Amino acid sequence: MSNLKVAIQKSGRLSEDSLRLFKECGIKFNNGAKKLKAQSSNFPIEFLFLRDDDIPGYVEDGIADIGIVGQNVHEEYQKQIEVVKHLGFSRCRLSLAVPREEKYSDISFFEGKNIATSYPNILKKFLDTKGITAEIHQISGSVEIAPGIGLAEGICDIVSSGSTLLSNGLKEVETVMKSEAVMVADSKLSDEKRVLLNQLIFRINSVLEGKNNKYVLLNAPNDSLDKIISLLPGMRSPTVLPLAQEGWSSIHSVINEDDFWENIEKLREAGAEGILVVPIEKMIK
Ligand code: ATP
Ligand code: MG
Repeated sequence: MSNLKVAIQKSGRLSEDSLRLFKECGIKFNNGAKKLKAQSSNFPIEFLFLRDDDIPGYVEDGIADIGIVGQNVHEEYQKQIEVVKHLGFSRCRLSLAVPREEKYSDISFFEGKNIATSYPNILKKFLDTKGITAEIHQISGSVEIAPGIGLAEGICDIVSSGSTLLSNGLKEVETVMKSEAVMVADSKLSDEKRVLLNQLIFRINSVLEGKNNKYVLLNAPNDSLDKIISLLPGMRSPTVLPLAQEGWSSIHSVINEDDFWENIEKLREAGAEGILVVPIEKMIK
């Protein structure tokens, strides 16, 4: 059987979480520090470790079947490849920033100005939709020093906390796009490789679904059971087991991470006590 070839960033902000995702999917492999390739011992997958900028091109050319990149890189390179899964890590945004002391009121600030960026295509598209014409200077790294050295009046770069901008005397003024890691795939995959990709995505979904939910166990007096059950939909419905103590039950269910604390508060108000919250490794609906 042929291997599914997966392109992953060799070293950088996507690497660790990408590797962890495959490990959490039960896919075993040995990645030595300087390795360029690795073969899984228990799934027909081969890993290629590359610079993130090269990944969309390798996937389009079929050198790799799938890859993990930031949406920012995927959009910038405009390759004929498909996004098959949003992965929820390496969240960041691509933003416009200007020197802190600059008076900024709105996007018209950038009309006729010079902007330095590693993302000329995304920036051009954004400025076009806003009706702004600016001079875009493509540079491949250390974009944040461009205003300080007189190359540009503004920059367009990746931001997560904003601390890099701050330490370079810049302020963020517009969000151009939000980004997270995505899995991309060659749109011309063979049927055999599609099957492997679907198996992989099934595993990824069960891992991501597990992370989004918690297993909750709690005790409650029987007369508050109806109220508590109405607060706990669970996968199908909650499990209710009698406690050794007369008139009490233990209730087990799954609750979503998004409104977790709000739900716990409501459960306490309804009479729940002894609440235990347990992480879920994998969840298959
Ligand atoms: P390479 O050497 O592979 O080209 P790089 O320097 O271009 O690496 P990284 O800085 O490792 O890239 O970032 C990889 C991706 O991680 C970015 O394209 C972006 O999607 C995301 N990213 C970048 N900075 C952050 C951040 N501060 N927080 C979260 N995600 C980020
Ligand atoms: Mg890069």
